[in-house]
Amino acid sequence: MKILRTRNELQHWRAGLEATRPTVGFVPTMGALHRGHAELLRRIRPRCDVSVLSIFVNPTQFGPSEDLAKYPRTFERDLELACAQGVDVLFAPAPEEMYSSAHSTFVEETQVSRPLCGQFRPGHFRGVTTVVLKLFNLVRPKLALFGMKDAQQFFVLHQMNRDLDLRVSVEAIPTVREPDGLALSSRNAYLSADHRELAPRFYKTLAETSTRLRAGAPLSATLEAGRQALEACGFTVQYLDCVELPTFNSPNVVLPGCPYLLAAAVYLGATRLIDNVIVNPAALTAIGYSAPSFEPAESS
Ligand code: AMP
Repeated sequence: MKILRTRNELQHWRAGLEATRPTVGFVPTMGALHRGHAELLRRIRPRCDVSVLSIFVNPTQFGPSEDLAKYPRTFERDLELACAQGVDVLFAPAPEEMYSSAHSTFVEETQVSRPLCGQFRPGHFRGVTTVVLKLFNLVRPKLALFGMKDAQQFFVLHQMNRDLDLRVSVEAIPTVREPDGLALSSRNAYLSADHRELAPRFYKTLAETSTRLRAGAPLSATLEAGRQALEACGFTVQYLDCVELPTFNSPNVVLPGCPYLLAAAVYLGATRLIDNVIVNPAALTAIGYSAPSFEPAESS
C-alpha cells in the first residue's frame, strides 16, 4: 500500500495512471477505522482496478464547540485495517496541506443539507461538501462509496455530484451494526458501560417507529411517541424526524410506497449518536439509487 501525504504526491501518482485508464474507487474517511469502514473497502475492491482510501479529520466540518481535538486518531491500527482490505493508496494529508491559511472557497448544498443534522450543526455539511469536492478533484475516482450510517451526508454528496456534473458514481452501503443493533461508530468508544447497554434501544426505537409509519400510523403523533420512548429510556433527543426522499422536504403524511428517511440524533451523556432507517426503501431504486444501499430495517 502506498501512503501519500501531499496533494503533489497524489496528483503525480494519479497522472501516472492516465496511460492505462484504470477504474479508481474511493472511500473517504476520518480514520479511527472500524468494521463499517472495512465493509466499504471490502465492497469497493472488486468494483475497481485501483482503490484509494483517504484519512483526514476535516476541520471545516466541525463547529467551534465540537470535538475536533478530541476526535480519535488511531493511525497505526488504521494502516493494518487498510492493508488487510487490500487498499492500493492511502492519502493522509495534514490539515495545512488541505487548507492553506488563505483558503476562502466553500461549496454549499442548500436543500438536502438544511433539516435534520443541518439544523443543529451549522456549517457542517458545507465543510463536508468542500472537502469531498477537493478530494474528488485530487483522486478523480469513477466510484465513491459512503455509508448509510451518515445518510444525510450521502444524499448531500449525491446531490452535489449531480448539481456540479462531477460524474462520479456516488453510492452507499447499508449501515454496519453490532449484533445488538447499535450502528458502529468511532464515537461508541466514548460510551460508559451503562450507556453502551442502553444504546441499542436507539435503533430499535427507530425501527419500531418506521414499522408504525409504514403501517399508516399518523406522522407527527408517531414521531412524538418515538421521541418520548427514547427520552423515557434515558436518551436526550436532539431531533427525531422524517423527510421525503430524495428532496428532504417535510411530509404531512407518509404515503405507502414512497421513500422517506427517518433519522435521529441523541445524546447519551456527552456522546452524540446518529442513526436512521429508510422507510419504503424499494421505492428508492425506482428513482435511480442502487438497491443494496437501502435494506429495510427489521423491527422486533
Ligand atoms: P467517517 O470516518 O466517520 O467520516 O466515515 C467515513 C465513511 O464511513 C462514511 O461514508 C460513513 O458513512 C461510513 N461509515 C461510518 N460508520 C459506518 C457504519 N457503521 N456502517 C457503514 N458505513 C459507515
